[in-house]
Amino acid sequence: MTHAMALQVELDPQPAFEAALREVSQALGGAMTCLHLHDSEHQTLQLVASHGLGPVWRRAWSRLSLAGATPPALAQASGQSQELRDDQAPRGLGGVISSPVKGAELTVGTLSALWPRSARQADYLECADFLETAGSLLGLSIEHAGLVAEMVDNLAQVSRLQRQAEEKNRELAELNAKLAELSITDDLTGLANRRYFLQRLEEEIRRFRRLGQPMCLVMADLDHFKEVNDRLGHQAGDEALTEFAAHLREGVREVDLVGRYGGEEFALALLDCDLAAGMKVAEKLRGTLRAKTLRPPFDQLGGISVSMGVAQLAPEMESRQLIALADRALYRAKDLGRDRVEGLGS
Ligand code: GH3
Ligand code: MG
Ligand code: MG
Repeated sequence: MTHAMALQVELDPQPAFEAALREVSQALGGAMTCLHLHDSEHQTLQLVASHGLGPVWRRAWSRLSLAGATPPALAQASGQSQELRDDQAPRGLGGVISSPVKGAELTVGTLSALWPRSARQADYLECADFLETAGSLLGLSIEHAGLVAEMVDNLAQVSRLQRQAEEKNRELAELNAKLAELSITDDLTGLANRRYFLQRLEEEIRRFRRLGQPMCLVMADLDHFKEVNDRLGHQAGDEALTEFAAHLREGVREVDLVGRYGGEEFALALLDCDLAAGMKVAEKLRGTLRAKTLRPPFDQLGGISVSMGVAQLAPEMESRQLIALADRALYRAKDLGRDRVEGLGS
């Protein structure tokens, strides 16, 4: 009996209650049996299962007041088995015994056996003993089931909270990554923004000082770009900027730095590259731009051209000075008619 109870109560108590009542009934020579559980909120005993109990008794005993004098109510209140028999038994019955169903600490309900008047006289003392033992086993099972249910509830809640926390952390990590990305990239072109370009340039200059590898800075400014906007509209202007950014990125090595310096001005840091090599790279980028942009809508303007100034980093030179030198070369390219590359430095 205990084995079946303990195992089943964990999942769904009802079948286990009914099985237990059936076994108790058999053990008591076919007595009707019923189980009440204590409803502390309403101060009642609630009938939860019965065996052999007719509809009249089921109805009458479905909810018993704890203040009443029924055997279950008395057993619940006193924690002791209560028996009524013969003349004292409720009408139509030969005898009733109600025993407390005790958990480890509390009386959680009562287990009752009822005999019809016609039944063979039962040994009430023995029956009470048996009921009390069965009640204890049931009580422990019920408490155990409650604990298990609570544990399952708690576990479900803990894992739900854990999942929510994980989800939130993932969102946060994504947002942080996005924020970090946004803070270093230019919205329109996806290149490094001016701040990040300058930061990386400083790092590369420090590396140059350590390793002594040559390095060039290229400043590139699109020619007559105001006209692109004025004649084709700002959207076409944006498209030209995006295309030029891709053109630069594709035209240099992965290690080289490419940034949007501002407006239609871009900067390149060509690593491990002296002035002659830097001029070649810039010349190639300039030379292929116009051909690339001889397509609508830029063909109306005869394509787009760029002027570039190249400067080689000298020892002891700060980034500020390197930029000024490349700017000077760029102005010279503009002055000399645009769509050309000029270089300054050793
Ligand atoms: P120059 O050959 O001397 O460089 O002439 P320019 O017209 O290119 O130079 P100017 O400095 O007069 O004009 C630069 C133009 O670039 C003006 C500005 O509206 C445009 N511009 C700057 N940033 C953006 C942008 O993000 N999108 C678009 N569509 N235009 C931009
Ligand atoms: Mg400009
Ligand atoms: Mg310009």
